[in-house]
Amino acid sequence: MGAPELELPRFLEAALSAGHPWVYRDHVPRDFQASSGTVVRIHAGAFSGFALWDAESQIALRVYSTREEPSAAWVAERVRQAWELRALVRSSDTDAFRWLFGEGDGLPGIVVDVYGKWAVIALYADGLERIADWVADALRATTDLAGIVRRGREAGARLSLVWGRKPPAELVVAEHGVRMTADLELGQKTGLFLDHRENRRFVGSLAAGRRVLNLFSYTGAFSLHAARGGATQVTSVDVAAGAMDAARENFRLNGLDADAHDFVVADVFEHLEHARRKNITWDLVISDPPSFARSKQHQKQALRAYVKLNALAMQVTARGGLLAAASCTSQVSPDAFLQTLAEAAARAKRRFQIIHEAGQPADHPVFAQHLEGRYLKFVVGRVLPAA
Ligand code: SAH
Repeated sequence: MGAPELELPRFLEAALSAGHPWVYRDHVPRDFQASSGTVVRIHAGAFSGFALWDAESQIALRVYSTREEPSAAWVAERVRQAWELRALVRSSDTDAFRWLFGEGDGLPGIVVDVYGKWAVIALYADGLERIADWVADALRATTDLAGIVRRGREAGARLSLVWGRKPPAELVVAEHGVRMTADLELGQKTGLFLDHRENRRFVGSLAAGRRVLNLFSYTGAFSLHAARGGATQVTSVDVAAGAMDAARENFRLNGLDADAHDFVVADVFEHLEHARRKNITWDLVISDPPSFARSKQHQKQALRAYVKLNALAMQVTARGGLLAAASCTSQVSPDAFLQTLAEAAARAKRRFQIIHEAGQPADHPVFAQHLEGRYLKFVVGRVLPAA
């Protein structure tokens, strides 16, 4: 039995032929029915390809191949290609990285992160079970692992063992030689925010002799790089008390004196307001907030939040000091984010002199045909008084 066939509107031909991997539900004939995970042979004008059907999400079809129905061997080849690219990232100093970045690695909806000897699979659509099994087989065949686990989609969902041994609750990994614990079961994302690896190293290179404020610090990854880079003092701020305990532990793990630094459990906005009132400033401020918009409807709200946050951040940056501002909201483009920084500077009565712009590292690749995959922005600039 071959894959069911589905005729899509002709106007999708151009985008699909160019390699765009998504078909939105609005563009699927209403009478089409299948269970999630069904491979469908789709056609749009002269385009044809094999796509995975998702009965629930806004993205109804994810195109896998124009040539063949995905099979174990086809998936293994994608996994191998992705592994080859990760040679740019993995080293004796770095053993936590993203092995598969869904669309960016030609395996839509599937993410695999590596933490030392463990791999964590996360699925972003229904019906990917069979493909996930093939992925797991390919991971094992490609490198020596101690275990493979699956992370549930809901927050707080348990980790399930796919193969091998479960990871310890406190797994220590390294990022450019900085050691950190990753809690694959209860941590955010799959444990750590791996996407800022190069940005954290860059912050480390700027930190010598500076007093540093790390906002939304989570388990202190930016703080650790700053401290190792020679910061005289680092203040980490996050609302999550557990993350703060982990941050302190991570300092010790790296032979850094945790008592010489501040770990503040607080709301970032309140902390900034307080510092501004008291005229407390830092020489280097890092701001890496959670996504401010989960969907397009919240885009305006997100833009306003970035303006407010970074205006405050600029006001507590010492004259001539540096602000590193990040955004992981895919609904906010790099240009739109830069625009919020311009507005923030105006509001704070400062000038923001950009010295560095970056995005995602090599283990979060994006196809030119799918710029939606480009979600991370990281902008560093000098904060100067108004002219
Ligand atoms: N910079 C971190 C990742 C940040 S994730 C790293 O490099 O690992 C975002 C963090 O923001 C989470 O830890 C969350 O607890 C925290 N957070 C969210 N809203 C907050 C708020 N209003 N005030 C303080 N922390 C907040």
